[in-house]
Amino acid sequence: MERVTIREASQRLRISTAMVRECIRGGELKAFKETRDDGGMGWVVELPEDGWVSEAIAAELNREFSPWWWGTQDKTGYIHYVESLSASSWEETVPRFLCGEIGDNIWAATDLRQEMLCLECQMRAMEQGLPQSNPSPQG
Ligand SMILES: [Zn+2]
Repeated sequence: MERVTIREASQRLRISTAMVRECIRGGELKAFKETRDDGGMGWVVELPEDGWVSEAIAAELNREFSPWWWGTQDKTGYIHYVESLSASSWEETVPRFLCGEIGDNIWAATDLRQEMLCLECQMRAMEQGLPQSNPSPQG
């Protein structure tokens, strides 16, 4: 089994480093303290077999409602994390995003790419311990 740093595991498994740590705590991933090249001690993660999906992520993927939505119809700018939804007097959906922005409406974001996600929303979701996105592989 290949052992990699938490950062590399995050990239290889396409989950956040916070999620890697979460999986280690939950026993889904094995981690070891190893001596690094520079003599210090560091955590390494044993990479699971191909196709591994965290139970936590699987549960997230099976959710019917994704909190990540576009705030514009032409899908420009960033995908935001919807904090709450309310209906306007015209029965339109008015989303309020975690970053504080108010959208015109919401449009489903099916292709979640890390570089398209609103950074502010991501940071607040992380601070508040909200479920994170699971970006699609790039390319
Ligand atoms: Zn945002």
